[in-house]
Amino acid sequence: MRSRVRPNISFNEPLIFERSSPGKVAYQLPELDVPAADPLAALGPENTRSEIEDFPEVSEVEAIRHYTRLSTWNYAIEYGMYPLGSCTMKYNPRINELVARLDGLALTHPYRPEALAQGSMEIMARLQASLAEITGMDAVTLQPAAGAQGELTALLMIRALLASRGNPRRKVLIPDSAHGTNPASAAIAGYAVQNIKSNDAGMLDIAALEQSVTEDVAALMVTNPNTLGIFEENIVHAAEVLHARGALLYMDGANMNALMGIARPGDFGVDALHLNLHKTFSTPHGGGGPGAGPVAVKQSLEPFLPIPRLRSVGKKWAWDYERRHSIGRVRAFYGSFGVLVRALAYILAHGGPGLRKVTLDAVLNANYLRKKLEGVYELPYQSPTMHEVVFSDDRQARHGVRTGEIAKRLIDYGFHPYTVSFPLIVRGALMIEPTETETKHELDRYVEAMTQIAEEVENDPEIVKGAPHETRTSRVDEVAAARKPVLRWKPV
Ligand SMILES: *Cc1c(COP(=O)(O)O)cnc(C)c1O
Repeated sequence: MRSRVRPNISFNEPLIFERSSPGKVAYQLPELDVPAADPLAALGPENTRSEIEDFPEVSEVEAIRHYTRLSTWNYAIEYGMYPLGSCTMKYNPRINELVARLDGLALTHPYRPEALAQGSMEIMARLQASLAEITGMDAVTLQPAAGAQGELTALLMIRALLASRGNPRRKVLIPDSAHGTNPASAAIAGYAVQNIKSNDAGMLDIAALEQSVTEDVAALMVTNPNTLGIFEENIVHAAEVLHARGALLYMDGANMNALMGIARPGDFGVDALHLNLHKTFSTPHGGGGPGAGPVAVKQSLEPFLPIPRLRSVGKKWAWDYERRHSIGRVRAFYGSFGVLVRALAYILAHGGPGLRKVTLDAVLNANYLRKKLEGVYELPYQSPTMHEVVFSDDRQARHGVRTGEIAKRLIDYGFHPYTVSFPLIVRGALMIEPTETETKHELDRYVEAMTQIAEEVENDPEIVKGAPHETRTSRVDEVAAARKPVLRWKPV
């Protein structure tokens, strides 16, 4: 029997300001048996304000219930599957959170003298070495705060290397299957972007590439596997074409969940790449919180890495700021340290064979979904699927239902939507990345929901078009929410 997945309870919770009534407090203290002091007086009037207009006054249980109820309105990986393609929303083991919260690591200060920070520095050195091993590259910087900043960091290094050879060049080539941050990073690094079309297999068109690599081209930025979840089979050839003409190969490595322990970018000709520790290596993301986008490079780019660099002096670690060719700093301090701790804990807990298993399971899960759903949704590219699979809404569009509406209907079934309308080369894309942390049971529930929605599209399209029905609010004005956000409550 089909069990319909239900969303969580959803109270019509008012704002905490609307719950307020004068005089209510959320604490109870014993009577004073000493003279009352005025703590505000000590701070001085310029540092204090007498009253906050309409400050909410509620009891303890009201405060607790209010925030607990709000917390149930958020979808979370702890609640269910989060198949947002390209985002690798995997479950992050709690043990890594625990390690990152150890007092000695969580409370350390970035300005602590080197002699007292040797343990933290050792963690960073080991993580650099691990990431170099996983990617097959020669050197790693942990400084960039996110994937996109890693891209920019690498392009600035490529520019510096080419400039040192006499000409920074003008253009960066980017396939139409690339992630949207790639062209943005290239433009910020001062390069003109030239698009390269994909072929019918959803891969880089090598003939088009050969024609485009002129003396003016600094690099090709390729996402691999690309945003169709397809591995670029001609990557070695592409690297040869670029290198023969003095250009470099940059790889967007945010999809490392498809390669770890199986293939090393350094072995297939990549000169620089970034990783998303907050995707592949166990840092929760999605709330805008800290991430890390380390960059790994080949020897030729090593002199240009951001300062400071870790350097071993005898048996100790030191920070090296004296690097003539460095592009400088790209972030305050040394990177998002807590994220780095989680990543090393995750890598050490898995070991090489464990990371390989992560990849194998991620690819297996994506292929399981592909097989179960390819009779239901249109599969525009037949090339082998890696860690994510991209369908189109072609069949459903005939009934007037588009990918965004199918995604909204998924919410009624208790799932977070997949990535909608991306990559752009697929009209009406449904981009699904289950990750390795989902069980077969959970994948089957997802398949069932997707299949039922496809049946609804044929029999009762209006129910899909009007979704979600079971949430507290249904369709919100997404454009107004992005363009005219109301972030602060004000008394009427
Ligand atoms: C997520 C992602 C990025 C950008 O990473 P951020 O950390 O969000 O800046 C770049 N490329 C690909 C393929 C991604 O999936």
